Amino acid sequence: MNFKNILNNPIFKILKESVAEIGLKSYIVGGYVRDLIIKNSNKKDIDIVVVGSGIELAKKVKKKLNNTNKIQIFKSYGTAMLKWNDVTMEFVGSRKESYSDSSRNPKISFGTLQEDLLRRDFTINTMAISLNEENYGNLIDPFKGVLDLKNQIIKTPLDPLKTFSDDPLRMLRAIRFCNQLNFKIEANSLKAITQNSDRISIITNERIVDELNKILECKKPSTGFIILEKTGLLKKIIPELSNLKGVDEIEGKTHKENFFHTLEVVDNISRHTDNLWLKWAALLHDIGKPLTKKFNKKVGWTFHGHESVGAKMVYQIFKRLKMPLNDKMKYVQRLVFMSSRPIILSENEVTDAAVRRLVFDSGELLEDLICLCEADITTKNPKRFLQYHENFKIIREKINIVEERDRIRNFQPPISGKKIMAYFGIEPCDKVGIIKETIKEAILEGEISNKYSDALTLMKKKGLEMGLKPNENKL
Ligand code: ATP
Ligand code: MG
Repeated sequence: MNFKNILNNPIFKILKESVAEIGLKSYIVGGYVRDLIIKNSNKKDIDIVVVGSGIELAKKVKKKLNNTNKIQIFKSYGTAMLKWNDVTMEFVGSRKESYSDSSRNPKISFGTLQEDLLRRDFTINTMAISLNEENYGNLIDPFKGVLDLKNQIIKTPLDPLKTFSDDPLRMLRAIRFCNQLNFKIEANSLKAITQNSDRISIITNERIVDELNKILECKKPSTGFIILEKTGLLKKIIPELSNLKGVDEIEGKTHKENFFHTLEVVDNISRHTDNLWLKWAALLHDIGKPLTKKFNKKVGWTFHGHESVGAKMVYQIFKRLKMPLNDKMKYVQRLVFMSSRPIILSENEVTDAAVRRLVFDSGELLEDLICLCEADITTKNPKRFLQYHENFKIIREKINIVEERDRIRNFQPPISGKKIMAYFGIEPCDKVGIIKETIKEAILEGEISNKYSDALTLMKKKGLEMGLKPNENKL
């Protein structure tokens, strides 16, 4: 197989010339080759193996491109990274790796191309395309990667038990590729993942989260999460999710199976958004259920307060996985905390007041919250399914009407505390707060409109009720 005519990006001409000038054998490897064969030529990161060191080639390419970007060099690995427009090139010296039981990190030494390809994780990632003059564009495929690509199989080139034990991150990569490409993991490799699942504990959380994020970014993340669960990996990474599994039954009453429900919600939301954090919120929205589950003879199973328990768990999970504890985490927390609010609305008749309250409480999050709640509709009862969706349409319409009329979303009290104090001639005290709260409540309930004149009338009335008198000096 030759790819001479398919290497369209102008960068390849430069690469070819540079390789000829420095005289070191070089090859495109890994994901770029894999994606080229499955006709996905959108990939913007190109991995290049140089038999020798990658640094010299990177410097040559930079010069030819008149590239002003800095080369990032990792001397001890003979590795260099260069960015050009939206393309990232990584130049790596060919190497072989030997792992020992005593150290987490492999011993790395110079290796031939064949040895370099052999150390790679999956056969579909072991192919190389020559950048050398004598066979430019030729595919080198010593481990039958093309065949496995054709058969849509993810399989390690060496013994899978050893491959996964050597670098347990590969287990997550296998599952991620399976999900991204919609391939199957070969039976022996899958078995080896289960057998090695304990080993995931030696991998840093940052690398684990990178892979989880890539799974969440797939079209149908449930595929990945189901394999994570079946192989025992999920229990090690996010046991709170595994705990959602199963259905209890007392007196013939059962509750929803929350693990598969959760995955369905994640799949649903993935059809509507690329927002990774909204997907995290979907993944964790029911996380508080096992801890709050109770059986009540009259009403059956309840999960009271699971949203606030869940929101606290979001923090613990993010912290444990060394994920950022910033506004992204707070966003996920707030969505989990509010995740039942619109649902309750959708199950009943939707009143204006309830919509106003939702708009007020959710603020900026409103759109994403409703998107989450629509994704949360997984009932298999077609009548209810339609009804809930229909109600969300009504909610959306009412939000628009209410918003236009009452401007609730960025609610500013129409009368300030200062004004109240001045009018009644009082110092800061709880009465000011009570009047403000009364005005806000009346607006949200729809008893008065969000206008200064209406609020002023109510302020006077409430003040009188509380025994306050207008300050004569101010009148
Ligand atoms: P993508 O960029 O789409 O995630 P990729 O295959 O290019 O996919 P990279 O992480 O960029 O993945 O790695 C480049 C290549 O390096 C892979 O194709 C694979 O051959 C090899 N590789 C990466 N990580 C490992 C690993 N943990 N063990 C063995 N080989 C690996
Ligand atoms: Mg890559």
